[in-house]
Amino acid sequence: MSSRVSLIVVAAGRGARLGAATPKQYLACAGKPLICHALEALAAARAYCAATVVIHPDDRARYESALAFLSPAAAAAFGSPALGGDSRQQSVRAGLEAQCDAAPDLVLIHDAARVFPSAALIERAVAAAERFGAAAPGAPLSDTVKQVDGDGRVVAAPDRAALRAVQTPQAFRFPLILEAHRRAAAAGVDGLTDDAAVAAWAGHATYVFDGDPANVKVTTMDDLSAAEARLIDAAADVRVGQGFDVHAFAVGDHVWLGGVRIPHDRSLAGHSDADVCLHALADALYGALGDGDIGAHFPPSDPRWRGADSSIFLSHAADRVRARGGLVAHLDATLICEAPKIGPHREAMRARIAEIGAIALDRVAVKATTSEGLGFAGRREGIACLAAATIRLPAR
Ligand code: MG
Repeated sequence: MSSRVSLIVVAAGRGARLGAATPKQYLACAGKPLICHALEALAAARAYCAATVVIHPDDRARYESALAFLSPAAAAAFGSPALGGDSRQQSVRAGLEAQCDAAPDLVLIHDAARVFPSAALIERAVAAAERFGAAAPGAPLSDTVKQVDGDGRVVAAPDRAALRAVQTPQAFRFPLILEAHRRAAAAGVDGLTDDAAVAAWAGHATYVFDGDPANVKVTTMDDLSAAEARLIDAAADVRVGQGFDVHAFAVGDHVWLGGVRIPHDRSLAGHSDADVCLHALADALYGALGDGDIGAHFPPSDPRWRGADSSIFLSHAADRVRARGGLVAHLDATLICEAPKIGPHREAMRARIAEIGAIALDRVAVKATTSEGLGFAGRREGIACLAAATIRLPAR
């Protein structure tokens, strides 16, 4: 029988070494919070019987907003977060205690700041836990290592060949590491910096398996820039899609444009809320994906979409991008109408579109023009919208 494997992602750190006000795991990196990249890579690698992110109690709102950026597969894999403690040890223990009911055979414990855990590394971790009970991935050192005293005087020169730089995910038999953490906590031992050290403290032999030098930890702003460059590089399949939509005016007292309700002396007719702007933007995303159009995903013949809030169309299209491991780089809409005036509502529309698409505000544009009185828009018979979307997909 194959082992039941659970996963704990430790994300409760305050990131003091990075010097930013926001903990590093929530800083934007290649279009989404850093933590999302780690969670998506882990979720893509294999299935887990339980998957728990341990967050700091002060980060609940940050974590909630990060969830909106996750691929649907990763969002489904991770349940409610566990709340961490003041030390790494306390945080891991909170994650372990949260998984007792799931009774895993093995657990992988990973740091959220390592955003490149490969599927091959995950499988090596599982195999090492099955074989050894307690194991950590390690990479050979390329630098020569010296041990120094307080004055910087070299007191020893350890043999580099026998040394390993240890990473995560570390891998354990679940009962072994749970008991080790409980005993350490009961003994008041709280300063151990990784879980292999906790297992060793509890008297277990711990082993090192082949790590992955590419699975670097983001610790400094330079690391963050390097990680972003690598992620952008991996999403090098850049695509631009276009969308176009028209809705006619009908009797009413408001229109929906860009997810914002705007008072007007007419309304727009349509099967849904007739938000011509969100429809054009959704089609631009479907176009970039080569994934049909809004009518194919949400047939007008389906009564479920009668009067629907059009935000569901745009968020669906953005989710389709994330489901492909991609990111939305840009959304741009041009409304064509004589009235209502768009300018006073532009910023509210941008903010709402950014929220629906789960992208940064500076990646959203809303513009407007009249058609100089010409054509149907000029005759105030309806509103047209042109849209463009840029997405980045993995280049594989
Ligand atoms: Mg439409």
